[in-house]
Amino acid sequence: MNKPLDLKELMVDQAALAKRLRQETSGEVMTDSASRGRYATDASIYQAMPVAVFVPKTAEDIATAIQIAAELGVPVLPRGGGTSQCGQTTGAALVIDNSKYFRNILDLNLDKAYVEVEPGMVLDHLNGSLKQHGLWYPVDVSTAGQATIGGMAGNNSCGSRSIAYGNMVHNVLGINAWLANGQIAEFGNYANSSGVAKQLGDFVKGLATTLQPEIETHFPKVLRRVAGYNLDIFHPQSELPYTQDGSVNLSHLLVGSEGTLAYFKSLKLKLAPLPKYKVLGIVNFASFYKAMDSAQHIVKLGPTAVELVDRTMIDLARSNPSFKKTIETALIDHTAQTPEAILLVEFSGEAHAPLLEKLKALEELMGDLGLAGSVVPMPDANLQKNLWEVRKAGLNIMMSLKGDGKPVSFIEDCAVPLESLADYTQALTDVFSKYGSRGTWYAHASVGTLHVRPILDMRRDGAQKMRAVAEEASALVRKYKGAYSGEHGDGLCRGEWISWQFGPKITEALAEIKTAFDPKGLFNPGKIINPPKMDDASNFRFPPSYKVIPLQPALDWSAWNVQNNPVTEETSAPGTGGDPAMGLAKAVEMCNNNGHCRKFDAEVMCPSYRVTRDEKHLTRGRANTLRLALSNQLDMKDESSPLGSDAIKEVMELCVSCKACRRECPTGVDMAKMKIEFLSAYKKRVGHSLRDLAVAYLPKYAGTISSIPLLPALLNLRNHIAPIAKLQEWIMGISAQRSLPIWKSKTFWSNPKAITPYQYSADELSKQKGVVLLADTFNAYFEDENLIAAIKVLTAAGYQIHIPHKSQSKAANTEQNTCSKEFCCGRTYLAAGMVDKAKETLGELVNHLAPYAGKNIPIIGLEPSCLFTLKDEALVMGFGERAVTISQHAQLLEEFLANEVKAGKLNLNLKAASKPVLFHGHCHQKSFAAVTPAMELLKLIPNAEPKLIESSCCGMAGSFGYEAEHIEVSKQMAEASLLPSIRKSPDSWVVADGTSCRHQIADGTQREAVHIAKILAAHL
Ligand SMILES: Cc1cc2nc3c(=O)[nH]c(=O)nc-3n(C[C@H](O)[C@H](O)[C@H](O)COP(=O)(O)OP(=O)(O)OC[C@H]3O[C@@H](n4cnc5c(N)ncnc54)[C@H](O)[C@@H]3O)c2cc1C
Ligand code: SF4
Ligand code: SF4
Repeated sequence: MNKPLDLKELMVDQAALAKRLRQETSGEVMTDSASRGRYATDASIYQAMPVAVFVPKTAEDIATAIQIAAELGVPVLPRGGGTSQCGQTTGAALVIDNSKYFRNILDLNLDKAYVEVEPGMVLDHLNGSLKQHGLWYPVDVSTAGQATIGGMAGNNSCGSRSIAYGNMVHNVLGINAWLANGQIAEFGNYANSSGVAKQLGDFVKGLATTLQPEIETHFPKVLRRVAGYNLDIFHPQSELPYTQDGSVNLSHLLVGSEGTLAYFKSLKLKLAPLPKYKVLGIVNFASFYKAMDSAQHIVKLGPTAVELVDRTMIDLARSNPSFKKTIETALIDHTAQTPEAILLVEFSGEAHAPLLEKLKALEELMGDLGLAGSVVPMPDANLQKNLWEVRKAGLNIMMSLKGDGKPVSFIEDCAVPLESLADYTQALTDVFSKYGSRGTWYAHASVGTLHVRPILDMRRDGAQKMRAVAEEASALVRKYKGAYSGEHGDGLCRGEWISWQFGPKITEALAEIKTAFDPKGLFNPGKIINPPKMDDASNFRFPPSYKVIPLQPALDWSAWNVQNNPVTEETSAPGTGGDPAMGLAKAVEMCNNNGHCRKFDAEVMCPSYRVTRDEKHLTRGRANTLRLALSNQLDMKDESSPLGSDAIKEVMELCVSCKACRRECPTGVDMAKMKIEFLSAYKKRVGHSLRDLAVAYLPKYAGTISSIPLLPALLNLRNHIAPIAKLQEWIMGISAQRSLPIWKSKTFWSNPKAITPYQYSADELSKQKGVVLLADTFNAYFEDENLIAAIKVLTAAGYQIHIPHKSQSKAANTEQNTCSKEFCCGRTYLAAGMVDKAKETLGELVNHLAPYAGKNIPIIGLEPSCLFTLKDEALVMGFGERAVTISQHAQLLEEFLANEVKAGKLNLNLKAASKPVLFHGHCHQKSFAAVTPAMELLKLIPNAEPKLIESSCCGMAGSFGYEAEHIEVSKQMAEASLLPSIRKSPDSWVVADGTSCRHQIADGTQREAVHIAKILAAHL
């Protein structure tokens, strides 16, 4: 039996470990507290500081690291995406991250339909490359964009379509792995095995044979059982045999071993044909019990998935404007009361017609069950895709609950036989109410594994409630002969339930297996064997002792400073949550480590991770570092300012403030705002650089520069004379590789009288077809043709325009004599962390705009980063209701025009385009869902055939791309998809609203991108 390791001894070895790893491997070695802290958590409620973190570059690095760790007696913990929900990826060990460098396909055999991959390969990436061959790896976990094959095998993961394809254990053909002594063993077909794998296989066979009666008694007979080791490989107890031909495969012993037996080097996987067609039948139920009771009958029709969405989730989706329409496509009658539950029943296959027959059979079945007319048939692939998205988003909305009480995953994957599902869910719902909580049910009805998370506050009485609910849930699982651990693995959360599930003899046998594989107990100790109690608070991320340091943030975070009611989920009033950091800490703590930001597919989040694949350049890594700093868990030299510390600087360095996480992170972690907080604290500590000042005060001095004769031309020489650019790089850190925006002597503001026709009071404008058009610094001083084009379009459409300007403002203004007479949104100050200055500047604009917004006059902007400041940061800068009203009227030119067209108030009558159009959305535009209106508008130009470039951030991000230390990363971001897409279409217009996006495109492709105002004006 393994003894738990003494963790104090391990700390002593840290320096020696790091030294040897650095000397003997080519990998990245991290021992500082912030780096270790970023690997201390997964998507569970647990936290444990690693001894060190190692990111190996070669297989030899891993082998050497295992060897060194063994010699020094340091545990080893392999890690993929770190998305486990039970704490299996947390531990005081040398954590080895496979996800950065081990992402290759090693062998693909199309005839035999198998693939061999490295352990860090992400499922979606694998399936992306298999698609062209009509194949896929069908263990379709919800975290497909982040989960690695190594981690999936480690957890014996299961997808939504497991009823048709099985779990990981059913789909792994072989594993090559390092044992704890560094030896490599090949685990595959037992009959053909040899060497150490055969010896281990024989040993396990001996145990299994002796314990056969115990195994038959204690192993649940359900598909979804992932607890412990698969001691049943010799006589599978699963509903679905582990192999098709009844053979024994030793790799199945490693599947679900959670890094405790061996370190996977490569995995051979069984592939399935990609179904050509899919249809969906959505069954509407007036009773939740009936829905659960029907699942057992529905599965007999042979569906590939049966997924539950309950009423709470349907209502959440219906109350969200982005999901309302889609969720209502699933309802029999959207004017009637919301059904108590819907079941999404999917059939798939090679031909469409038989699937339509299946849908008919489903309708007949429901008729037989007394629910005639309850099925919405959905043969359309696009509608199906949208509905699956809503099903996923429902979970996200649930997870975004603010306050210390959170939906906690600990009994969310118990699996029971389908005939007992209705009784089990009803009884568990009663248990929740007994403990003052409530659960929202969703997911895999087909296999009796429904996800449900009661809301618990782990800082207060969460641990006690968790224990009580778990005890009662386990009694129900036993009553219904189910599996307590049915999908997400054991980890720290379910380890103690292994002996409960299997009894002492099997538990003892599992420990013997561990000893045979890993005699010193170095691989991921404390998981599966000798686990701690699930409610041992010393393992919690938020134990009752968790304390936040008092802090006065620069922005208003009171909306996060709340508590919630676990039954109604209502939150208390802003500012009442008791956060010593005034809500900032609670906003940071919204990150539950689900890892969704580690994605590479559509959308934007997180550009810096996409190009570096470093945990520290990821939204999650940033949130974790902030959390640790704000709760005083980092060793810091600059303790006076944890928020402005070097540890935070390191993680914020490559955050381009794209605001993608604000929209795409399931819990709404808004790192761009947190970066403003960091910059504010950091710059207070170290002061502003010349470059900061040059960027921040640009709106103030731009007018002066353009008005001094010859000065613009003189400054522009920098773009043509390399030594000047070099000198500037040396003095200011502005990259000589970049051209700078071209100064002009004739700008939009050169003749303030020219804007006299565009001056109206709010009263005057409200009596006409009026709009306010913001002349931002970038468009006014550097690209005034965009403003002129916007005026042309709006005028042609019959609108009266007011352009805010202090000198002619009819609204009272106290700042008439400052050097700048233009209003400004304060963006450049925010980028430099000068929040007070931004407040002052933006405050003037808010004062000016308030009367116009009060009269419901649209406020139109051209530069997304400026316009969306009014809809975002302005709301947390203390401007009160005025800012809220303004934000409701602030919109991009295309948003305004597209809405007017839709409302039938505008007919633009545009000329045909001579060439097609490519559109690149600015990150902030994407973050505020303002790309669709641009596309709608471009579609009004005959022959334009607008295509949206699927791109993340362009990499310029305000001043980021100009900064010498960021130029390479900036270019990599642009090259990830934006620039190659543009190069592929040499004969298109390229439309981009962001000044910096256009600049990046020009620098990288030598193509001129235009603002949408310009292309519209050109086609009038
Ligand atoms: C929102 C959300 C939804 C989820 N949905 C699902 C779902 O639908 N189905 C499901 O089954 N799970 C689900 N999970 C859980 C989790 O995403 C999966 O278990 C996933 O497969 C884990 O992959 P990973 O790369 O993140 O593994 P990690 O968490 O990094 O590791 C998982 C385990 O594998 C071990 N491991 C990793 N690499 C190796 C290696 N090379 N050798 C040996 N052991 C290794 C680790 O030590 C650890 O014990 C979900 C999680 C979240 C947060
Ligand atoms: S930042 Fe958001 S997406 Fe990333 S891990 Fe945290 S909660 Fe998930
Ligand atoms: S703002 Fe953008 S770069 Fe920064 S963390 Fe969020 S997604 Fe990543």
